[in-house]
Amino acid sequence: MIELINVSKSYNDGKVKAVDNINLLVNPGEIFGFLGPNGAGKSTTIKMIVGILKPDTGKILVDGIDIQKEPVKAKRQIGYVPDEPNVYEKLTGLEYLNFIADVYGIGENERRERIGYFLEIFDLKNAIGDLIQSYSHGMRQKLLITAALLHNPSVWILDEPITGLDPKSSFLLKELMADHAKKGFTVFFSTHILEVAEKLCDRIAIINKGKIIASGTMEEIKKQHEWESLEKIFLELTEK
Ligand code: ADP
Ligand code: MG
Repeated sequence: MIELINVSKSYNDGKVKAVDNINLLVNPGEIFGFLGPNGAGKSTTIKMIVGILKPDTGKILVDGIDIQKEPVKAKRQIGYVPDEPNVYEKLTGLEYLNFIADVYGIGENERRERIGYFLEIFDLKNAIGDLIQSYSHGMRQKLLITAALLHNPSVWILDEPITGLDPKSSFLLKELMADHAKKGFTVFFSTHILEVAEKLCDRIAIINKGKIIASGTMEEIKKQHEWESLEKIFLELTEK
C-alpha cells in the first residue's frame, strides 16, 4: 500500500512548484499507473515516495510506514527502479548485484536463486561478468530492475520502466508486474505509454503541472469523459 496525504514539493526556493498538494492511495493487489506529460511532477513524486527527496509538506506511508520517520524500515518494503539507469560503470553486473544483495543482507542461497532467475528471464547471463560500462541502455535497465527486486520487496515503484526495453523484456516486465499485483502486493509505475496503462492498470492517476487532474479506474475516467479513448482524455486534460 502507498498513501500520499497533502504532499507538496518545490525546487529553487519555491520558484518551481513541482508537486502541488497531491493525495493518492494505492491499494495492495493493485497496479496503479501514474500518467502525465514531461515535467508534470511524476519523478518528483516518486522520489519522495522512495525517500530520495523530502516533501515540503504532507506525509507518505509505504505499507503503513512513514518514509520520513522510519526510512530504513520503509525502504525494506520498496523495490525502486529509477528513470535513468545510472549505475557504477566500473563494476561488473554480478559485482553490482552482489553489492546490492549485501546492502539488503540477502543470504547466499536466496541471492543465487534470485539472481539466477532474473538473469535467465532477462537474458543477461552471458554479460553478467562484463563491466557495466559495456552494457546497452536496455541491459542497464534490466540490471537495475533485477537489483530493485532482489530483496523481494512488497511495494514496486517503477519510474518509466517500459521505455527503452525491447519488446520481449517489456512483455516480461509487464507479466512480472501483473503477477506481483495478483499475489496481493502493490505496483506503482509512471508511464508515457497510454496503451500500457490502459491494458495493465487497475487504476490510474493523471498528473499535470504538479496537480492530480483525474484518477480512478479506466471505466470511471472514461465514464466521466463520455467514453472517449484514454488518449483523447489525456490530451484534453493536460492541454487545458
Ligand atoms: P516528470 O517526471 O513528470 O517529467 P519531474 O518531476 O521530473 O517531472 O519535474 C517536475 C518539475 O520540476 C519540472 O518543471 C522540472 O523542470 C522541475 N524539476 C525537476 N527536478 C528539478 C530540480 N532538481 N531542480 C529544479 N527543478 C526541477
Ligand atoms: Mg520523470
